[in-house]
Amino acid sequence: MDLVLKLKQNKDLSDEEFLHLLNTEQYDDALRIAADEVRRSVYKDEVFLRGLIEFTNYCRNNCYYCGIRGGNANVERYRLSKEEILECCKEGYSLGFRTFVLQGGEDMTYSDEEICEIVRSIKKLYPDAAVTLSIGEREYESYRKYKEAGADRYLLRHETATDSHYRKLHPSELSLEHRKNCLYNLKELGFQVGAGFMVGSPGQTMENIVADFRFLQELKPDMIGIGPFIPHKDTIFKEEPAGSLELTLRILSILRLMFPYVLLPATTALGTIAPNGRELGLKSGANVVMPNLSPKRFREQYALYDHKICTGEEAAECRKCLEVRVQAAGYRIVNDRGDVKR
Ligand code: SAH
Repeated sequence: MDLVLKLKQNKDLSDEEFLHLLNTEQYDDALRIAADEVRRSVYKDEVFLRGLIEFTNYCRNNCYYCGIRGGNANVERYRLSKEEILECCKEGYSLGFRTFVLQGGEDMTYSDEEICEIVRSIKKLYPDAAVTLSIGEREYESYRKYKEAGADRYLLRHETATDSHYRKLHPSELSLEHRKNCLYNLKELGFQVGAGFMVGSPGQTMENIVADFRFLQELKPDMIGIGPFIPHKDTIFKEEPAGSLELTLRILSILRLMFPYVLLPATTALGTIAPNGRELGLKSGANVVMPNLSPKRFREQYALYDHKICTGEEAAECRKCLEVRVQAAGYRIVNDRGDVKR
């Protein structure tokens, strides 16, 4: 049987079959068409918005690929106060956003109580909006408090499910085991959970990507964030090539076929490596876009990688620009929380 049809029907393939799909372009059209069929059968033409608020670029970690790693002395650091965060939400809400994603480096100056207070304030002002946290690895007890305060979702990309590859990307204080544990804890606490990985990160093999598929099958996340790795000038990987558009799109389609229900963002990184990257992502199975709601004056300082797009626009401009792009790609932005459909 044709591999794409088999994947669509069984939502799974053998390792060898996945490797074959990953290694050749010959199935790309069929993959994209099948992925779009499946996405439309579950989510119709709907695209969900997530308003991204990058509220701190301080970070205690030193992930080798990341532009805001703690060891990068060239970064001008900033953090937003609760009031500034609420200001972003206010603007976002008026623009139709019903999910706010608070993302940042691992900045421990925000205590659990402060994070909870921020979450509670947002939920009180905008009870019909979902709050997503993306603030890295914390203790079970901290996650429990965030949930209790009203946080709905948590994004924590696993980055790679292969230990030896994880070691190439992170200093020894960090471990894959701990990161995976955080994901399982978040699930147990009832968060809608997002995992994911970079495509084409230094040292990544196709076998590593198959291992990522297997881990995702075990975790069953509600969202899977994938985007190309893009080098940052202040990292040891500055000379490494970026992940490819074609492979990222291929993986998006495979993921849509493996996980028909899943929330799959067309990421900013994808839009950065190709001018129409996000549109192509949507056509390949993605159903979420995450425009930036951070104050314009700090946008450039949250540079995870070089040449990041949309750093010079106000939130309203971003919203309008995306409206046009999504529509041109053949889809429609809906202003609701955009919960996962099971
Ligand atoms: N501190 C949080 C948020 C990390 S930033 C956490 O630990 O989860 C969000 C994501 O950006 C990361 O998970 C990583 O996959 C991605 N990222 C970081 N550096 C990148 C780079 N150079 N190219 C592409 N994506 C990158």
